[in-house]
Amino acid sequence: KNDVKNAQRAAHKAANIGLCQDTRATTEQVLDPRTRLILFKLLQRNAFAKLEGCLSTGKEANVYYALSGDGLRDIEATKDIPTNAPLAVKVYKTSILVFRDRRRYVDGEHRFEKGYTSGKNPRKMVQLWAEKELRNYKRLHAHGVRAPRPLLLKGHVLVMEFVGSQGWPAPRLHDASLSPDEMEDAYVQTCVALRAMFSRCKLVHGDFSEYNLLWFENEIVVIDVSQSVEWDHPRATEFLRKDCANVRDFFSRKCERVLSVKALYDFVMRDGVAD
Ligand code: ATP
Ligand code: MN
Repeated sequence: KNDVKNAQRAAHKAANIGLCQDTRATTEQVLDPRTRLILFKLLQRNAFAKLEGCLSTGKEANVYYALSGDGLRDIEATKDIPTNAPLAVKVYKTSILVFRDRRRYVDGEHRFEKGYTSGKNPRKMVQLWAEKELRNYKRLHAHGVRAPRPLLLKGHVLVMEFVGSQGWPAPRLHDASLSPDEMEDAYVQTCVALRAMFSRCKLVHGDFSEYNLLWFENEIVVIDVSQSVEWDHPRATEFLRKDCANVRDFFSRKCERVLSVKALYDFVMRDGVAD
């Protein structure tokens, strides 16, 4: 049984690498001059010693693998990061099409009202978006919800802790091969994380699913929080219901007993938000 599991893992890893290497040439060509400049400056400051291959090319962003340089030690917030620590570098896309989609999350988000009204400028918007993910990640971190630690933001480039080992990113829950017991455990952790995000961090993820949860060292790690909104956002309830439905849909195919969407929603909301 373990052999099957290992083979599946190996296949998954290989598939990942294949995808990245095939697309790498195209991706790198697409890096616009501004992005190249930011990455160049970060290298020059020795924030990273090496910027390596790409981990993911999504519709929202590309994520690259990098190793830290000693430049991070000069910055108060990152002075504890050792040299050669693995990093994930998320570069948000500036294309106008991506933006239209983001509006429904930014509209009604009081943290961003000023930026939004003054920010018809796509470059400003994408920076705001990156800043939002940084702040949301910080909040998760501050409240003990497992997520990558955000380290540095430069324009629309977010540098964070890499989740994985020896250069291999942790699999998304969607791709991970878990035993039935591990799946039960993942389910409970997922429900607890969703609840903690709401009651402690006062955030609704907005895209909470097996695609944005990583499975690392037997723990659920929450990622992709750029679209997450404050709990009092006008559409927070709607987004939270969808998040609960995603959890139910995924785990109802994997576990014997799972909460209904309503029961999970009630569990998340039970005590409202903590002070
Ligand atoms: P997509 O549009 O594909 O969902 P995205 O733009 O929403 O991508 P993320 O979901 O944040 O971006 O990241 C994309 C992928 O990159 C993740 O599924 C994960 O595999 C990888 N990734 C992101 N952050 C990290 C990290 N800190 N450590 C390891 N891998 C990461
Ligand atoms: Mn994602």
